[in-house]
Amino acid sequence: MPQALDILIIGGGIAGCSAAIALSDRGHRVRIVERQPEWRFQSSGIFVYANGLVSMAALGLLDEIVAAGFAVAEGRNLYLDHHGDPITETRYPSPDAARMPAILGIKRAEMHRVMAARVGALGVPMQLGTTVDGIEQDGAGATVTLSDGTAARYDLVVGADGVRSASRSQIGIDLVPRYTGFGVWRSVHRRPPDLTDKIMMMGPAKRFGIMPISEDRLYTFGTVAEPGNAYYPPEDWPGLMRSRFAEFEGPARAFLDELGPDSETLYTAVEEVVLPLPWHRGRVVLIGDAAHAATPFMGQGGAMAMQDAVVLADALSQIDGLDKALTAFGAARLPVCQFVQEVSRKVGEAGAEEVGADLGPRNARLRDTAQSAVDGFYDRLDGLIREGEARLRA
Ligand SMILES: Cc1cc2nc3c(=O)[nH]c(=O)nc-3n(C[C@H](O)[C@H](O)[C@H](O)COP(=O)(O)OP(=O)(O)OC[C@H]3O[C@@H](n4cnc5c(N)ncnc54)[C@H](O)[C@@H]3O)c2cc1C
Repeated sequence: MPQALDILIIGGGIAGCSAAIALSDRGHRVRIVERQPEWRFQSSGIFVYANGLVSMAALGLLDEIVAAGFAVAEGRNLYLDHHGDPITETRYPSPDAARMPAILGIKRAEMHRVMAARVGALGVPMQLGTTVDGIEQDGAGATVTLSDGTAARYDLVVGADGVRSASRSQIGIDLVPRYTGFGVWRSVHRRPPDLTDKIMMMGPAKRFGIMPISEDRLYTFGTVAEPGNAYYPPEDWPGLMRSRFAEFEGPARAFLDELGPDSETLYTAVEEVVLPLPWHRGRVVLIGDAAHAATPFMGQGGAMAMQDAVVLADALSQIDGLDKALTAFGAARLPVCQFVQEVSRKVGEAGAEEVGADLGPRNARLRDTAQSAVDGFYDRLDGLIREGEARLRA
C-alpha cells in the first residue's frame, strides 16, 4: 500500500465529508476547511437510492443513515397526474433489500449530522469559516494558503467545494456552470402517518414530488422551467411556490395550501458542470459537484459524490504514484457521472416539452415504460460502476 498522505479537503459537504471518512479510514492524515462559519443547511430533504447506500455502507455509516431517515417500503414510487389520479407505480431496486432500502428519504441536516459526527470521531479537524486563498504546486507537494493567513504543505488537495467551486478556478479550469433553465421549489411539512410512499405527480411540463424524510416530516419538490434565471427573494418563495404549482390537486394540494411566511421553503436555480478529464491538475483533484454537478431529476448527485470519495480512496490505496491514481480515479468515475448527467438532462428536457401537449399519450407511455426505464437505468449504472472498479484494478 502506498504511504499515508497529508490531505487537505476543501468543502465539508457530502463529497468532502465522505472523502474525509474514506481517506482517514485508509490511514491518511486529513483536514477539512469549510467556508461556512457555522453549519447552515439548505432546508428540505434528499433521496438516497440504494447505490448511494452502498457507498454509505463502505463508509461505515449505513445503519446510522437508515435510522436517521425514512425507508420507503419496497422502493415504491407512485405516479399520479396533477389532479391526483393514479397513472402507474414502479419499484426501485436494492442489492440487499433487508439491510438497504431501495429509496431512503432523509433531511439534509440529518445526513450531515451523521457524516460530520463520523468525521469528528475519526479525529479529522474541520476548520469552519475558512477558505483557500491560493494553491502553489511543485514536484514535492502543494502549498495551500488559507483565508486565515496560514499556509501549509500537502501531498494532495481535494476540491469538494460544490458547483461554484473556487478550487476549480484556482487550478486553472475556466468553467462557468451552465444554468439549465430549470428551477426547483422545495418545502418541508408535517407528514401524515399514512403518507409513506414516494409520490411523483406528473403535471403539464411540471413535476411535483412528495417524499417522507422522517417519522414526522416529509418534503415536497416541484420542478418547472424558469427561463431567464431570475432572482427571487426568499420571503417570496412560499407564495411563488404556491402559484407555480397552482394547478396541482390531490395529495399536493394540502401542502401547497399550507405554504405561508413561516414555511420552510427553498428555491434553487439548477446549474450543471460538464467537465472533461482530467479532473485533476498536479496534486489537486476535484470531486462531487465541483467536477460533475447534474440536474436533480434522477436524485443521484449526492450518491455520485459519495461514490467519488470511496473510489478516490481505493485508487490511492491500489495504485502507486499520485498522478496515476488520480488519472485512474477520473477514468473510473467519468463514465458513471456522465451517464447520470445525460439521463437526468433528457428526463428534464422531455418533461419541459409537454407544454400544450395532450397528456394522455404521455401517461400511456409512462404506464408502458416506467418500470423498464427504472430497471434499465439502474442496470446500466451498476454496470458502469463495476467497469470503473475493474478499470482501477487493471
Ligand atoms: C434541487 C436539487 C435537488 C437535489 N436532490 C438530490 C437528491 O434527492 N439526491 C441526491 O443524491 N442528490 C440530490 N441533489 C444533488 C446533491 O445535492 C449534490 O450533488 C451534492 O450536494 C453534492 O455534494 P458536494 O459536497 O459535491 O457539494 P455541496 O453539497 O455543494 O457542498 C460543497 C461544500 O463546500 C463548501 N464550500 C463552497 N465553496 C467553498 C470554498 N471556497 N472553501 C471552502 N468551502 C467551500 C460549501 O459551503 C459546502 O459545504 C440535488 C440537487 C439539487 C440542486
